[in-house]
Amino acid sequence: MTYQYWNQKMETLPRAELEAYQLDRLRAAVGWSLRTPFYQERLKQAGIRSEADIKTLADIRRIPFTTKHDLRNGFPYGFLSIPKEEVVRLHASSGTTGTPTTIYFSKDDISRWTSFVARSIYATGCAKTDVFQNMITYGLFTGGLGFHYGGEAVGMMVIPSGAGNTARQFKLMQDFGTTVVHATPSFLLHVEAKMREEGVSRGNLRLKRAFAGAEPYSEDTRKRIETLLAIDVYNSYGLSEMNGPGVAFECQCKNGLHLWEDGFIPEIVDPDTLEPLPDGETGELILTCLCREATPILRYRTRDLSGFYTEPCSCGRTHRRLRRITGRTDDMLIINGVNLFPSQIEEVIMSMKEVGNNYLIVVEKDGAMDRLTVKAEVNQSIFMDDTRPLNALKERIRKTLQGMITINPRVELHESGSLPVSEGKAKRVQDKRPKDV
Ligand code: AMP
Ligand code: ZN
Repeated sequence: MTYQYWNQKMETLPRAELEAYQLDRLRAAVGWSLRTPFYQERLKQAGIRSEADIKTLADIRRIPFTTKHDLRNGFPYGFLSIPKEEVVRLHASSGTTGTPTTIYFSKDDISRWTSFVARSIYATGCAKTDVFQNMITYGLFTGGLGFHYGGEAVGMMVIPSGAGNTARQFKLMQDFGTTVVHATPSFLLHVEAKMREEGVSRGNLRLKRAFAGAEPYSEDTRKRIETLLAIDVYNSYGLSEMNGPGVAFECQCKNGLHLWEDGFIPEIVDPDTLEPLPDGETGELILTCLCREATPILRYRTRDLSGFYTEPCSCGRTHRRLRRITGRTDDMLIINGVNLFPSQIEEVIMSMKEVGNNYLIVVEKDGAMDRLTVKAEVNQSIFMDDTRPLNALKERIRKTLQGMITINPRVELHESGSLPVSEGKAKRVQDKRPKDV
């Protein structure tokens, strides 16, 4: 097999040179970070006053971790390191309420980000002859514009179709001869089911490959999508705190995701002790962003669980390969690619005085897509046989939740005292989706 590289020198750089490059970039990132109020304070406490205090790559361990909580506390500009007039774009983490985590980009940041996405897309064998339908949410979520710019850089014709509306997606695929798509794995399965339902013939489509990410999925799910749609599926990993897509991506060997180590320094730590784990073991992924001056983030606790393959990849790239993400160390749910914390739902329903004390969040599969149901007990003063005020309350909860979490949930109201009460720690979330990861 012959492999194509977007930036052959960088993608196949010998490890020693790659590490020397990382040290250089780490110093620059520390320099950028010292312009933000947050890191000035944090790094001073750790005895780091200038980038010259970083002498070796191992010195990264002197830098304290950064958490999502820190990012929220720094809202809106606590992590901004360049003058506001130099910022050309912002993105925010999907599905967050109240205080989102906001990431700012300079012009150079956008072009660096774009080159990592382009490199990822190109590594799967795409070319400028491809027609790329980006079936993912555009907007504050990074998956839309991130892939859009990367696809254009590769020279493909990009169709910014956005997520949802399968009938329109099929029409675009047929009208323009789409060869490559990007979506969540659940949406790809949904698309396949709809194709059968609506009698769309595979023979009329020119699909060759798909990029699937934004949520965890198993090797079996990949194979299922590949067989059902007769395409190649490549795993795409990213997070808004590290720009978005273009952090780690599968090459044509489809055996782990090359993490672009000239853009990010990964570490795998024990999630309890936060001590580094031996190469190959599974733990929490920590990432330091080396490629974004406007919002530098150092040693970010992603909460994602993974580890590295230790043997080299036959494609010749020297950047280490991440295994599939197997889960998270916190209670964040990913519903159709949108991130959601149970506490966000609690905040909404507990603010309504008609709602009682107990509630339950149920996540299950509805065909290929995820479905969220919020069950809440009503206050003792509410009569269950009086349906009008109950329906109004239900609708109010649904609308408020939808507005805040961008997911349209089902809402069920239950009589006071009727939802199960657990004895120890309250079990508020039932995730009934099959665990096949
Ligand atoms: P966001 O910041 O909204 O882009 O969400 C990022 C989170 O989505 C990551 O921290 C992961 O938990 C999850 N995620 C993204 N891509 C993947 C993937 N390929 N496999 C598993 N989880 C993913
Ligand atoms: Zn490879």
